[in-house]
Amino acid sequence: MLTALDTATIFACFMLAMVASAVTMTVVWFNNPKSHSAGYWTFTYLTGIAAGAILVLWQQLGSYVVILSTLSIYACHWFLWAGFRSFNNQTAPISVLVVAVFVYLAAVTYNPSLYLDLNLSTAMHSLFIGAASLVSAYTVFTGPESKSLPITLSATIILVSHGLFRFSFLYFTLFDPSPIVDGRMAAPWWKISLLEIFFNTMLMAISTVILIKDRSEKLHRVASETDVLTGIANRRAFVEKTKNAAIGSDTGAALAVLDLDHFKKINDKYGHAAGDTALIDFVNIVTKCLPRKALFGRMGGEEFAVYLPSGSGEPLDILEKVCKQVAESNIQHNSTHIPLTLSIGIATIEAVGNNFDTLFASADRALYLAKQEGRNRVKLFSHTERLREMFNQQNNLAEQQTRSIQAS
Ligand code: GH3
Ligand code: MG
Ligand code: MG
Repeated sequence: MLTALDTATIFACFMLAMVASAVTMTVVWFNNPKSHSAGYWTFTYLTGIAAGAILVLWQQLGSYVVILSTLSIYACHWFLWAGFRSFNNQTAPISVLVVAVFVYLAAVTYNPSLYLDLNLSTAMHSLFIGAASLVSAYTVFTGPESKSLPITLSATIILVSHGLFRFSFLYFTLFDPSPIVDGRMAAPWWKISLLEIFFNTMLMAISTVILIKDRSEKLHRVASETDVLTGIANRRAFVEKTKNAAIGSDTGAALAVLDLDHFKKINDKYGHAAGDTALIDFVNIVTKCLPRKALFGRMGGEEFAVYLPSGSGEPLDILEKVCKQVAESNIQHNSTHIPLTLSIGIATIEAVGNNFDTLFASADRALYLAKQEGRNRVKLFSHTERLREMFNQQNNLAEQQTRSIQAS
């Protein structure tokens, strides 16, 4: 098969792949103008095309174009790495490229056979491409933005394989150099080298496009799960996460409903903007008091919920601390202190089971009692208390009916 493919055909395929990648990435960049990585990757493919095109002109323009082509290859890989760095909100120092260019120019000036001899010239850029690919693999695999995306592992494997392939060609160029026929490399390994570059170009173009798509999907998902004002989980996300956590939970878990006291009055007295500040500061205070495993969400308005999985501590102690910390906090808006308290109702899985609706209704019932008993307190749902409450309600109803019968 290898003999059926001539070098010129493989090279043409590589150039077409580069052009297609450049066009695709330009379109992606055009659609995501704020994505600097798409910009860097567009230049990756443009410099890749330049490197290839310059080589085609080699015989017309003379040996110096090999230097130009190698410099384009250096730029191409710097842009690729810069794209991964930028994707992760990291900068890519241009000095890395400048130093590499100077070292290369110094080397070819000192020893012109490093560019005149095609094997040695290939060794020069194989060394750089191998190192650049491994560094890019490290960036994409460990980068804060890219490391959790689905395509990351594949992109890392592609980059590492490319790096190792390039290093292996370093070996061939030095220890099994290709014969030069009509000014071109004629060894079979050179065809394999070109084929690998062709496949890598396509795989890299696909991976970089998917990386951008994965991140955009992640941003949309996070936005749909986050409360805009406070940055914590919104109702939908909290309910979903809690339902999942409660399914497997043993009896130690608890759900708490937190409601700010007389918040309407705070808005009326200090203004809506002050109310917003209070909500944000409140969330920060509560987040600091909660154990790491706890789930915290805004159910709507000034009502929040906390899910404490088993093993995260005694629910009553944790939420009493929350209540105390909020009451003692010094929330300020435009240098005015905003006094804030809250009432909390808790229901444990041990008492009411792990059905989310029952848990929430029970915690809400306990919250109602906390409000009734004077606010700024925590109440734990208990069946005995609930029965007493229902019994009192029945008594009151019966008394009312007796009074209305007597009155008539
Ligand atoms: P209670 O102690 O019984 O809970 O009284 P409350 O005033 O806190 O309860 P109520 O349900 O009567 O009022 C809730 C208020 O919360 C009304 C609404 O204006 C305010 N609120 C809800 N969401 C926001 C918000 O995002 N920002 C601000 N500033 N206020 C909000
Ligand atoms: Mg309230
Ligand atoms: Mg409320």
